[in-house]
Amino acid sequence: MAEKKYLKSVTIPVSTFENVMKQFDQAAARLNIDQGLLEFLKYPRRSTIVKLPVKMDDGTYKMFTGYRVQHSIVRGPAKGGIRYHPDVDLDEVQALAAWMTWKCAVVNIPFGGGKGGIACDPATMSKGEMERLTRRYTATLYDMFGPESDIPAPDVNTNEETMAWIMDTYSMHARHTVTSVVTGKPLVLAGSLGRREATGAGVVIAVREALNHLKIDPHKATAAVQGFGNVGSVSALYLQRLGIKVTHVCDVFGGLFNPDGIDIEKLINYVKEHRRIAGFPGAKECDRNDIIYADADILVPAALENQITEENARDIKARIIAEGANGPVTPDADPILKERDIFVIPDILCNAGGVTVSYFEWVQNRLGYYWTAEEVNVRLERFMTSAFHDILKAAQENGVHMRLAAFMVAIQRVADVVQLRGIYA
Ligand code: GLU
Repeated sequence: MAEKKYLKSVTIPVSTFENVMKQFDQAAARLNIDQGLLEFLKYPRRSTIVKLPVKMDDGTYKMFTGYRVQHSIVRGPAKGGIRYHPDVDLDEVQALAAWMTWKCAVVNIPFGGGKGGIACDPATMSKGEMERLTRRYTATLYDMFGPESDIPAPDVNTNEETMAWIMDTYSMHARHTVTSVVTGKPLVLAGSLGRREATGAGVVIAVREALNHLKIDPHKATAAVQGFGNVGSVSALYLQRLGIKVTHVCDVFGGLFNPDGIDIEKLINYVKEHRRIAGFPGAKECDRNDIIYADADILVPAALENQITEENARDIKARIIAEGANGPVTPDADPILKERDIFVIPDILCNAGGVTVSYFEWVQNRLGYYWTAEEVNVRLERFMTSAFHDILKAAQENGVHMRLAAFMVAIQRVADVVQLRGIYA
């Protein structure tokens, strides 16, 4: 198991998959489902580890380790992104795959859950090296992927270009163009309008519903956003469009603070040029590690998992935590946040806009007919708001916090499908 860095530079071993299992067990204990069936739903159906040799630009060969986990295919093909990061390991990929199963069930789209990753450091690699690594990964896992079986998408450090390489490599092996094998593709390459913004857009739809539920006026609210990648930057922009003042943001290099609100549109343009937020003239610099303790009404952790733990949950000042990232709050922190009356919009609901528009992209690819941005956004709005209210209702009816409610609804939805399909033997 990898050692993962917590904020405040405390390094302790964390099993992210164990965290998901705890979340599962807490929800399962409140459901009336056969114990054997629960075991079937809990663990990944298939975990694959592959060795990937890549010829580097200097002519040497380097070995990488890649992963693809299919957690569940009960409700449809395994669905989930591919992450490139030095910390990627089987434990993390299994956790992320499980969250995808529950996320797809929460927004009620006909997919199971999967996730992939390669342990690598994209910051130190050239574009050519990244392309060769991606193509080797896709070719090696060719038998696993497919529009009806397992459909990758972007995640941390992968993007539209990566998806184009996957689509092309898969298609070369299939001997014909297969667009629906991967989502998050470039627009001209059978991508969907609105996919790039979808995760952040969904986060802000969930925040808007939460504010409404808590009777907080967005025009009087402030927000802090941890992470300024695709999810963090779009979330910040859409929060600002909702009238919320974004006072704090950070990326992997540093933090920014402006009590009058940071102009996010300008910051996004600045980052396009400078590749980091540091040096932006419209705000003061601050320690990136302080962002999660910011004095703001809404906190959007949109970076990596295990950021808010038992150690620091008491120091959070926000009234709402909107989980743009997967797994930013550990199970030990949840009861503390509940006790402190902090409203947590759990990842499997909050960041589900991304996979929802991935589903729309897959539908459009299979139809061969493309929707307008408005058609995409109206549907995203519908899926996100109905998921939010399904979970809120379950939370109120069962007297539990939103994460527990989301897991309860999701597990029940998958279990219902298993019951109807029956166990083949
Ligand atoms: N990686 C994203 C997530 O964690 C998107 C997955 C997808 O679109 O399949 O939800």
